[in-house]
Amino acid sequence: MKVPLLDLRAQYATLKEEVLAVTQEVYESQQFILGPKVKELEDKVAEYCGCSYAVGVSSGTDALLISLMTAGIGSGDLVVTTPFTFFATVGSITRVGAAPLFVDIDRTTYNMDPSKLASTMAGLGAAERSRVKAIMPVHLFGQCADVGPILETAKKHNLVLIEDAAQAIGAEITFRDGVSRRAGSMGEYGCFSFFPSKNLGAFGDGGMVTTNSKDLYERLIIMRGHGAKPKYYHRVIGGNFRLDALQAAILIVKLKYLDQWTAGRQENAKAYRELFQNAGLTEVTLPVEKEKRHIYNQFVIRLKGRRDELREFLNAQGIGTEVYYPLPLHVQDCFKYLGYRPEDFPESVNAAATTLALPIYPELKREQLEAVVQKIKEFLAVRR
Ligand SMILES: *Cc1c(COP(=O)(O)O)cnc(C)c1O
Repeated sequence: MKVPLLDLRAQYATLKEEVLAVTQEVYESQQFILGPKVKELEDKVAEYCGCSYAVGVSSGTDALLISLMTAGIGSGDLVVTTPFTFFATVGSITRVGAAPLFVDIDRTTYNMDPSKLASTMAGLGAAERSRVKAIMPVHLFGQCADVGPILETAKKHNLVLIEDAAQAIGAEITFRDGVSRRAGSMGEYGCFSFFPSKNLGAFGDGGMVTTNSKDLYERLIIMRGHGAKPKYYHRVIGGNFRLDALQAAILIVKLKYLDQWTAGRQENAKAYRELFQNAGLTEVTLPVEKEKRHIYNQFVIRLKGRRDELREFLNAQGIGTEVYYPLPLHVQDCFKYLGYRPEDFPESVNAAATTLALPIYPELKREQLEAVVQKIKEFLAVRR
């Protein structure tokens, strides 16, 4: 049985009429840049994420970039993040002229380990500490990082919090005082991606920045249009970070179904857990649900020693998987100049060597989930 890692055509089949109708509306209007559709999407995403404002941008990468630029982060500054994330997190930090200050991940959640964050900050000399300007936690695979203690560190050192929520739209966390918050609503800036494989995917590139500050909202709007206000008068150097009306129109349609799709992903995760347990596959480590609402952008298992072999075996059986991510960022060629050694972040190195994402998209059938676990069982049985 074929089980692709992701099948967007299955979802499109359920949306086709609606999508064609709204895209036609945009064609008739001939308004392709920003406009009412983008504003409507911004209002809806802000509300969905429990934020006051949202600014539609050209991609998740640009959401990170425009946030850093608006925060005034640049040459000589340091931004704290983890080396176990998609390239864009650190790519955007370095593109504004700053450098990443890496903190290792928690072994079970793959998110920034707040205790390591605290010890890293404590270990810095005064001069270096004064260069640290922001913390950029990543809510990896659809589960919020442990933001409570991260916020405490941010407050203590007067740092801006920029959430990389690209994989986590609608994910929630409950703070110690019992208050629940959604990804993107906890810091100064929340950065989202509408890349097609994200839970809310456009028909192309797109992104969003959320904020609770009117001042930052207004500055983000200016930064998105080359820093101009009014038109052709530039007080800051911005860029073209605009979201297309066509993408916004499609995303407005898709947002209505997001909770239903998220529920489908969560049900699939639950089904996997039962199937793995019934199959007695104790050597496979399943994802840990530590925070309140995991939206399962990815369902990532862990298998020590034979991950690549398993992946090849599943691939040969028609089961799609992916490694997110095979090489941590602190050891990428382009970041050699930062001077990190592989052993500096052992949990990131370990996760890169042992994790594997299984198909989790909401339209998967029960038989497909069963086939995935059955094939993993077969693999482990012959090679135990
Ligand atoms: C997808 C992703 C991004 C970048 O989003 P794009 O829309 O592809 O530019 C950034 N960070 C993380 C963690 C992501 O998963």
